[in-house]
Amino acid sequence: AAAPPPARHLFSDPAEAEALRRNLLAWYDKRKRDLPWRRLAAAEPDADRRAYAVWVSEIMLQQTQVATVIDYYNRWMQKWPTLQALAQASLEVSIAGARCSPCPHSSSSNPVLCLLRQEVNELWAGLGYYSRGKRLQEAARKVVSELAGQMPRTAEDLQKLLPGVGRYTAGAIASISYGQATGVVDGNVIRVLCRLRCIGADSSSPAVIDRLWDMANALVDRSRPGDFNQALMELGATVCVPKGPLCGECPVKQHCRARHRKLFGKPAPVPDVEDCGKCVGGCPLCPPATEPWDSSLGVTNFPRKAPKKQPRVMRTATCVLERRGCHGAPEYLIVQRPSSGLLAGLWEFPSLPLAQDLQEEQQREALADHLQAWLGQPVAAGDLQFVGEVVHIFSHIHQTYVVYSLPLDGGMALDPASSPSRWVTEEEFHAAAVSTAMKKVL
Ligand code: SF4
Repeated sequence: AAAPPPARHLFSDPAEAEALRRNLLAWYDKRKRDLPWRRLAAAEPDADRRAYAVWVSEIMLQQTQVATVIDYYNRWMQKWPTLQALAQASLEVSIAGARCSPCPHSSSSNPVLCLLRQEVNELWAGLGYYSRGKRLQEAARKVVSELAGQMPRTAEDLQKLLPGVGRYTAGAIASISYGQATGVVDGNVIRVLCRLRCIGADSSSPAVIDRLWDMANALVDRSRPGDFNQALMELGATVCVPKGPLCGECPVKQHCRARHRKLFGKPAPVPDVEDCGKCVGGCPLCPPATEPWDSSLGVTNFPRKAPKKQPRVMRTATCVLERRGCHGAPEYLIVQRPSSGLLAGLWEFPSLPLAQDLQEEQQREALADHLQAWLGQPVAAGDLQFVGEVVHIFSHIHQTYVVYSLPLDGGMALDPASSPSRWVTEEEFHAAAVSTAMKKVL
């Protein structure tokens, strides 16, 4: 087993840890933001409903700022206020769903599920990581069908039994909904703990993350674990922010070793521990010797991360096929992406990833061939009109869409030969589960 880290990186004094909990919770009681999931979790007497309300908020918050999530959250909870409602939705579609047989949208053997997925995707589309919405719905079905509608009651079981629920989400649900004394570690907690204890080793490395989980579990308040975890995250979101932290207003500033170091130019003394002076070189939690403390950065010396990998550079040809609909309004052809991988199950204009070194003529030819496969009719490369380029940055991909358009006159009102595809008006396009990148393309 790895040697324990030097005490200057821990909360080894029980009295100090207790004071930190007290100060943080007192601050939270006064300053916490009034958020719909907090209101639901506080007022809901039923543990399963409480856990569901927290679960939805946690999945949404993993991806997006609180201010954006509120509206999505309220809409989601209105539409599916309970696990049962979310699972039941497929039943309703099946009863009302003559249109799903035969299913035009999926090769899935379960067209009902396919339509529901589409509905879930549409609600989720603006939030980013689309597959999480889908997995939430699948997990809800599992709870209803395999667990008799009862949410697992511990962080360990939540993580083990529910697809898409990782260690963080399980800890958040269990501590907030059931009062289990278990910690959580997310980006905000990493930042706060690394600053409080001058942890400067790569905070994305598994060894450091493991230590942070140990610390979070040891530090969590036994009588108010949910509030304590939310307070720690709230501190990171509103006070101990990545740039320009508001240390003067911080409720735990007297426990913060990064702040001590900034003010006094040297590490904080650690009572009764003889190793604080030796915490240089070989310490698993100190900054690497090659990147020592930079006094111009102050507390933002922490946390540190290994440099990011360069995003993959991709080019994709995409074609906006346009025809006149029955009322003369333009309609566009959109097609559905595969059910796994990037932007799984979302709709887009017919698109084709391009090899890096293709000349423009070759791009056109390749795109024309691709369109022919969708339309079932030849498409002349020369008819494709180059419109421009749209750059969209995904977290790990730098994507350039090379955009072409192809207006179809009345005599060429083609019907797509392949499913899943459909013609949509501009309004329908914006309401459909399309990615932000495709909205830019349009
Ligand atoms: Fe963060 Fe500053 Fe508070 Fe330390 S004193 S925890 S760096 S806000």
